[in-house]
Amino acid sequence: QEDNFKNVISHAKEYGFIFPSSEIYDGLSAVYDYAQNGAELKKNIREYWWKSMVQMHENIVGIDAAIFMHPTTWKASGHVDAFNDPLIDNKDSKKRYRADVLIEDYAEKLNQKAQKEIDKARERFGDAFDEAQYVTTNPRVMEYKAKQREILERMARSLGNEDLADVKALIEELEIACPESGSRNWTEVRQFNLMFGTKLGASADSAMDLYLRPETAQGIFVNFLNVQKSGRMKIPFGIAQTGKAFRNEIVARQFIFRMREFEQMEMQFFVKPGEEMKWYDYWKETRLKWHLSLGLGRENYRFHDHEKLAHYANAAADIEFNFPFGFKELEGIHSRTDFDLKAHEQFSGKKLQYFDTEENKNYVPYVVETSVGLDRMFLAVFANSLTEETLEDGSTRTVLRLPSVLAPTKAAILPLVKKDGLPEISRKIVEELKWDFNVAYDEKDAVGRRYRRQDALGTPFCITVDHQTIEDETVTIRHRDSMQQDRVKISELRDIIANDVSM
Ligand code: ATP
Repeated sequence: QEDNFKNVISHAKEYGFIFPSSEIYDGLSAVYDYAQNGAELKKNIREYWWKSMVQMHENIVGIDAAIFMHPTTWKASGHVDAFNDPLIDNKDSKKRYRADVLIEDYAEKLNQKAQKEIDKARERFGDAFDEAQYVTTNPRVMEYKAKQREILERMARSLGNEDLADVKALIEELEIACPESGSRNWTEVRQFNLMFGTKLGASADSAMDLYLRPETAQGIFVNFLNVQKSGRMKIPFGIAQTGKAFRNEIVARQFIFRMREFEQMEMQFFVKPGEEMKWYDYWKETRLKWHLSLGLGRENYRFHDHEKLAHYANAAADIEFNFPFGFKELEGIHSRTDFDLKAHEQFSGKKLQYFDTEENKNYVPYVVETSVGLDRMFLAVFANSLTEETLEDGSTRTVLRLPSVLAPTKAAILPLVKKDGLPEISRKIVEELKWDFNVAYDEKDAVGRRYRRQDALGTPFCITVDHQTIEDETVTIRHRDSMQQDRVKISELRDIIANDVSM
């Protein structure tokens, strides 16, 4: 697993997807730059989300609010007082940890142990294996699972009561139970606010303290009535947005999984109070379907329903993805009640109510939100697509099996040789196709090596122009995944590609 993850990171760099930020100055921790191919892949994921949310739903519109917001926003939202993570330092290693993440890691280790037992049993029993039954009868698996649950429940309770001493005690207890981890020399657990502060205005006395937004949602809440009125929106309706958010994360690790500057894709759906559970269920299902439509495999997703709820929510679930380091949150679906709009009413003194013409009354709508990290989506898609294949002749090839709709480049046009007019015909094909697709031209190296390079970049099609092309206007089109090659007319190319790469 670890090797696989290292491969993902080095492939992302070598093939121009992701670079460490300001690398010539040795980088900046938990900040990354999207490179030429990464920027395309990221844009395509964003568009795929935007189309499915905004274009496909008559009652959802998209906005693009500013990153800077009036500072009172973050008072109202609760971020100034409560957007904290519990932090703990190890005095021996001088390393800093998020206490809850540390505990979750222990819990995940137990989960993996249980999973190993299950996998072994599956191998032993083959087709007759009944996993559900095994999990509830095998004593070892039951013990691992029970312990895992207990740890997480105790953590949730302590954090809920803000009893940080209990959190520390739990960590120490887990360290004893897990001798290989060694050290028990911890500081107290303390709360750390994750918002980045900055200043607006030139002169010192008139400058205003601002925050970089830690989530995009508040830009939607403060604009709720503006959008509703100017768009004549009727409940239920949604407002969608993609954009940067900033969090001063304590544990910056796992590549682009947890960044200090990242991008969110959020949608707030405004509903009639009392109907929120119906819509919560609807969006849970709809969002999972969206993920599954990318074809990364049903087994890589699971729901995690929250028992401990944030101060603003009456129901919450995560869609977790099987990342190279295990199942972790990819998207959150929250039923936020009227918490945010009510809080903004209170702090701004302005009414944020909807007049329901059917009921002939005013009310503050309830909100169901879906919130997915664009960078986490990128990591999910990228890591899952990267495969190493052994071919019939024993050689290996690296293929980035990206969903075609997301691939940075849809087709590469390759003249077989750099003479006899083949580059000219190839350029003409590029000129024709570039209006519809992102295409590449490559004439360097033997054609086999060019195929391998496009495989590693995730390009679904390679189109090769050879001497026969001059005679009959046909080319070979090679499919990335099957490596199958077909002879087709140049005039057919656009339809063949469009068929595969469109939504
Ligand atoms: P986590 O528990 O992993 O810190 P969270 O519960 O704080 O995440 P939310 O506040 O619900 O996350 O944010 C919604 C989504 O934004 C997450 O599901 C995740 O995909 C993304 N996200 C949150 N924090 C980060 C980050 N530091 N880097 C990248 N993506 C992030």
